[in-house]
Amino acid sequence: METIVINGRAIANAIREKLAVDVKNLASKNINPRMAVLHIGEDPASLSYTKSIQRISSKINIEVEVCKIEETTSSDFVIEKLKKLNENKKINGIIIQEPIPSHLKREDILSSISPFKDIDCMNPINLGRVMKGKFLFAPSTPLGVLKLLEYENINVEGKNVVIVGRSNIVGKPLANLLLIKGKGGNATVTVCHSRTRNLTSFTKMADIVVVAVGRPKLIEGNMVKPGSVVIDVGINDVLDSNGKHKLVGDVNFDSMKGIASYITPVPGGVGPVTTMMLLSNLIKSALIS
Ligand code: NAD
Repeated sequence: METIVINGRAIANAIREKLAVDVKNLASKNINPRMAVLHIGEDPASLSYTKSIQRISSKINIEVEVCKIEETTSSDFVIEKLKKLNENKKINGIIIQEPIPSHLKREDILSSISPFKDIDCMNPINLGRVMKGKFLFAPSTPLGVLKLLEYENINVEGKNVVIVGRSNIVGKPLANLLLIKGKGGNATVTVCHSRTRNLTSFTKMADIVVVAVGRPKLIEGNMVKPGSVVIDVGINDVLDSNGKHKLVGDVNFDSMKGIASYITPVPGGVGPVTTMMLLSNLIKSALIS
């Protein structure tokens, strides 16, 4: 069987062109989408993600304001900063980069993002709306997964989808989106996690496997059904045989060849489309805020 490698970068470029038109149309109405990215501390991976958001945004005239806060900050300080951003009419969307330091009151902070500016769906109000299937914003990574499938004309209706990973930002919201009664939903969904017994017995049943765990090579070719679609959300920084850093996913990519019908590479799969979904949410927020 031929395994098609989904080109996330090409899909992201196609989406970017559409978003550029939306931004131009908004500019003609004097609306200029602007995002605030809040950084608490100096985590190198999240700083590099912010740089990539800035680079991509600048290509379509979206402005990004980076707000850096020292790691030793207090929850009250972060919440006060968020209040100011919520009230700032020039800011349409707000994201907080992970990791949020563990000494801070995470839930209080996330609840302080205005639900109307919460473009990565971190506020529990917006996450709850995703569960109900009627929402303003959904998290960008699950939206990215669905967009990839849509671009490849892979219909999820009635399919057996197994998600590996139950995080609040990927696994759980993706399950809810796939369950929506309507277009782009109607899948039969199973969510596996660290306490799942005999993971292979689930992944082997799936028409579509989505893996979002953060463990290199967790899913091997012999764990999936021939012809299945394998979407790898994981991003892991590992050392190659020459001791150099490289990014790999959660799926053993080479082991899927000849078994999966479609697979996403890492890098160049889900990641670039996720960023486009974030910008798409920002454009949505610019229309309402
Ligand atoms: P997380 O750490 O919050 O959750 C990981 C999940 O994996 C947990 O639910 C846990 O139960 C499950 N898990 C752990 N070990 C397991 C095992 N052996 N078998 C089955 N399940 C297991 O992670 P997250 O924030 O959801 O991110 C997951 C991965 O996706 C990470 O590599 C992250 O870097 C990546 N990620 C990528 C994007 C993107 O745009 N491509 C976006 C977000 C996260």
